[in-house]
Amino acid sequence: MTIDTEALKKSNPVIAAAANLEETFWFNPKFTPEGFEKITQVTTDQIKDASDRLQRFAPYLAHVFPELAETKGIIESPVVETTEMKKFLNENFGADITGRLMLKKDSDLPVAGSVKARGGIHEVLKHAEDLAIEAGKLSLTDDYTKLASPEMVKFFSQYTVQVGSTGNLGMSIGIMSAKIGFTVIVHMSADAKEWKKNLLRSRGVQVVEYQDDYGAAVDEGRRNSDKDPMSYFVDDENSQPLFMGYAVAAERLQKQLSEQNIAVDEDHPLFVYIPCGIGGAPGGVTYGLKSIYGKNVHCFFTEPTHACCMMLGMASGLHDGISVNDIGIDGKTEADGLAVGRPSAFVGKVIEPVLSGVATIEDVRLYGLMRALLDTEGTFIEPSSCAGYGCLIRPEDMKRYYEEQGLTDKVDNITHIVWATGGRMVPQEMRDKYLTMGL
Ligand SMILES: *Cc1c(COP(=O)(O)O)cnc(C)c1O
Repeated sequence: MTIDTEALKKSNPVIAAAANLEETFWFNPKFTPEGFEKITQVTTDQIKDASDRLQRFAPYLAHVFPELAETKGIIESPVVETTEMKKFLNENFGADITGRLMLKKDSDLPVAGSVKARGGIHEVLKHAEDLAIEAGKLSLTDDYTKLASPEMVKFFSQYTVQVGSTGNLGMSIGIMSAKIGFTVIVHMSADAKEWKKNLLRSRGVQVVEYQDDYGAAVDEGRRNSDKDPMSYFVDDENSQPLFMGYAVAAERLQKQLSEQNIAVDEDHPLFVYIPCGIGGAPGGVTYGLKSIYGKNVHCFFTEPTHACCMMLGMASGLHDGISVNDIGIDGKTEADGLAVGRPSAFVGKVIEPVLSGVATIEDVRLYGLMRALLDTEGTFIEPSSCAGYGCLIRPEDMKRYYEEQGLTDKVDNITHIVWATGGRMVPQEMRDKYLTMGL
């Protein structure tokens, strides 16, 4: 199919701005407060299924990862108030945030150090569970610590798991699969950072490197896996187990907010900002949040100007039928976790009725925001994660949204949550280097 990009740009000023690499903010014309009712491709039973699975595996996870002993095998991160960062954004960007500003620290998620510890680990566990049950070696009511036995590790070692990644997905799939006992091959795009490849190799993961972008690494991984009947491919472009692993975040957040006595209701809206690559992580979290909070939660994605694939897919209505290359931009960004040129084949369609909008942000700004968060709150998150601030630094657009949604008299009651998606495992020398970069 040929795409008439000139017509697209003419019909939509946001696409024209994106093609010019200008920062922009797209409001989703298909968003409605009650949009959740319109979603038919997936169901909330699937979230429950993922949540129950993570619960079944919790004793196993606590057993094999000492860092999970304290939470009894639940992989979770804190959500914290960031008053000093709010001051910084208000003073330096005129952000005019009058409600509460919080940070969801998936940057600190144990085991894999990024939001991928939700979706990626869930999918590997599901695959292991399916295989073990099918072989008659496990039943749903068993104590799953038995999966760590030498006999089970040997059983799993006959099987291979493969994935294409810009880095963090490979880390999560690689670390978890290697622990289960699977043979793991991670196909890394050119964007992937060297330290991530080295860390994986140190855990016995085979890392294949490509001089090409993410889409190419995924294609090669899929091809390689399809040739081997014992191999399973984690398909970031289509995977529902990934999506549902991310969606479980919502019920956990709900519990955390209520423990902190933070209300989310008609008079106290929740605004959530999530960095987006292919769309699985932010899409899954959004789907989960909408299933719980309905019209009282407003979800936004943020993307690098050079890799704004979800915005382009949704604004054009073409979804995975268009890539950023089609509008003449390169998909290259320092935000390695977001370096994706073509969006997921299903996420954009699922969230079309419920996503409020997408903002883009220039790479150079990510470092300044990273330093600001470190200075004001003592919290380090990786540059990709900092894209989450891309909406709040555009106060005029936010104001327009409040007006359009009739929220102007409620802005003081809004809880804003920026979703920090990665950072924990970044080595100190990389952190030091990041501190010298950007604006
Ligand atoms: C993967 C990733 C995202 C986005 O997830 P997608 O599923 O690719 O949209 C955001 N931030 C970081 C740090 C990531 O690694």
